[in-house]
Amino acid sequence: MKKVLLSQAINPAGMKVLKDKVDPIILTDSSMENIKKMVADVEGIILRTNIKVTREIIEAAPCLKIISRTGAGVDNVDVAAATEKGILVCDTPGVNSNSVAEQTLAILLGLAKQLKIMDKAVGEGNWKIRNAGKAVDVEGKTLGLIGIGRIGSLVAYKCRLAFNMKVIAYDPYVKQAEGIELCSNLDQVFKEADFISIHVPYTKETHHLVNAKLLNLMKPDAFLINTSRGALVDEKALIEVLEEGSIAGAGLDVFEKEPPSPDNPLLRFNNVIVTPHSSALSRECVMKVHITAAQAVVDFVEGRQLKYIYNKKELQLK
Ligand code: NAD
Repeated sequence: MKKVLLSQAINPAGMKVLKDKVDPIILTDSSMENIKKMVADVEGIILRTNIKVTREIIEAAPCLKIISRTGAGVDNVDVAAATEKGILVCDTPGVNSNSVAEQTLAILLGLAKQLKIMDKAVGEGNWKIRNAGKAVDVEGKTLGLIGIGRIGSLVAYKCRLAFNMKVIAYDPYVKQAEGIELCSNLDQVFKEADFISIHVPYTKETHHLVNAKLLNLMKPDAFLINTSRGALVDEKALIEVLEEGSIAGAGLDVFEKEPPSPDNPLLRFNNVIVTPHSSALSRECVMKVHITAAQAVVDFVEGRQLKYIYNKKELQLK
């Protein structure tokens, strides 16, 4: 049976997919020396987020034919090095979209209803917080989206349906979207929206896409939400506007450095809700994603057509 390295254990439902189809080996020591030893005779890698599959690792894996990522995005794979060796790089786009969209809505409501402040105050015996006029409604407010691909468009749909929100968006690659007013520039979104939510991939071009200039266009009662990737936002600039009180707050599932260092100022604002890059880690989502990543390896081994190949074009596959 073909050997497949799992960078970490996967959900039992994913293991069931692999059973009797491949020989799974779980990585226990993630030192570079050990990884290189472990990949020497594997044909596949099922990759979680705990390690990076670098060029050095790919070169130490002469039999490697498929890298299957448990999630959307292949930031932790040297795709160019894999492509040079003809190795398929697969991920699971769309499988986690609903869970990320749900987390975005949870953060949005948490910010609107000031759950962090209320929870803390009540715990400290401050019942009077109820009259502090902190919470706002979301009904009829404007949601500004940056990126309306799979996750962004789902957030738009849910917010329109549940809260009758007006949705505006900036996505230069989308020409029309039902129920969404497309903006020709980011400035308009930052000026007009009450809640701004980011759903674009992180690339060299989108590094610090949300910068001081845009943050300073936000209304004082507007909130910023990032469930995409930390470095899409210039954290320093965000800390500045929060310190100045020129925006109402922020909700962050992702950080420039993860985990954030304990002295990161973003962790000490009452009006900033933080979660540990956990949007796609609901029980249902983990199970679905692990099944999909495992199935890709089994389909490959058994010669079936694969659903998602990230480097399909580069490998000139049909
Ligand atoms: P997607 O590819 O379906 O959509 C991305 C959208 O961004 C596309 O419509 C694209 O046109 C648009 N876009 C690209 N560059 C842009 C730019 N400069 N300005 C505006 N729009 C731009 O991706 P998706 O599945 O919706 O995921 C979005 C991102 O969410 C992923 O790239 C990933 O970083 C993040 N994500 C986070 C988690 C988490 O656990 N927090 C989980 C899954 C995905």
